[in-house]
Amino acid sequence: MTASIIDGKMFAKNLKEEIARKVETLKINHNLTPGLAVILVGTDPASQVYVRNKNKSTNAAGMNSFEYLMDDNVSEEDLITKVKELNKDPIVHGILVQLPLPKHINEAAVIETITPEKDVDGFHVINSGLLATGGKGMVPCTPQGCIMMLKNHLGNLSGLDAVVVGRSNIVGKPMAQLLLNESCTVTIAHSRTKNLAEVVGRSDIVVAAVGVPELVKGDWIKKGATVIDVGINRIEMEDGKTRLVGDVEFKAAVQRAGAITPVPGGVGPMTIAVLLQNTVTAACRLLGVNEPE
Ligand code: NAD
Repeated sequence: MTASIIDGKMFAKNLKEEIARKVETLKINHNLTPGLAVILVGTDPASQVYVRNKNKSTNAAGMNSFEYLMDDNVSEEDLITKVKELNKDPIVHGILVQLPLPKHINEAAVIETITPEKDVDGFHVINSGLLATGGKGMVPCTPQGCIMMLKNHLGNLSGLDAVVVGRSNIVGKPMAQLLLNESCTVTIAHSRTKNLAEVVGRSDIVVAAVGVPELVKGDWIKKGATVIDVGINRIEMEDGKTRLVGDVEFKAAVQRAGAITPVPGGVGPMTIAVLLQNTVTAACRLLGVNEPE
């Protein structure tokens, strides 16, 4: 058996086109241009790339993009003041603070300052609480992208056995919650899980969000399972060049899975597309207008 490849790049492209159409409708019908503000603290090269891509995609969708670059040694107080300013700004509908922040800043304090309605990353405790209780909040972008791909590929997820490997607040936990909301039987595995191979082996859906290159072995995968690989790991090869690999041993997994996301080109492109979607949703909710179909 060779798994079909879930093409996140294509999925994200279609979603971005759909978002651009919604933005156009909002401009014409409501004179509303959704706006996303991104704050980047410091000069971490990976974060700079993410922020640049977010900026480009936001503009390409016809939305306003506001970028705030702050020095590595900015105080927590100044950062919080900036967030509060953006909370009040009527042309900003989504606020994202690029993580990680420097050690001297309390990330939770900054995230909790963002107005939950503008928290397009979905990391605010109010939004986690709404996700856990079935309310209408903002859902974290990466897990939301994963669930969209899963539903698109499998249709109804009800009753399926799912494992999420990883329990971070930004991927693992919200992912498990979304699968539960789709009536899956969910196991959350983590660094202390005993016999991960067995847990993975009985799952119809495997979501790997660990950050360890190829931790999930191909021969653990149940035949026909759907595998979503969130991991992005840069590894060095024998010739000194580097390449990106996921948390799943792709070459072997592809021989057993029914479907699998590649790295790169799977979950990654979906994250930014969902961020734009969340910004459109936030703008509509803040302005009290119906989101275009
Ligand atoms: P994290 O470091 O916050 O969490 C990793 C989790 O993996 C922890 O809960 C830990 O318990 C678990 N873990 C560690 N070692 C393990 C082991 N040996 N067995 C089982 N579980 C183990 O990481 P994160 O922020 O959740 O990110 C996970 C991965 O996803 C990273 O590679 C990251 O780069 C990637 N990521 C990708 C996107 C995207 O857009 N595609 C977005 C966010 C994160």
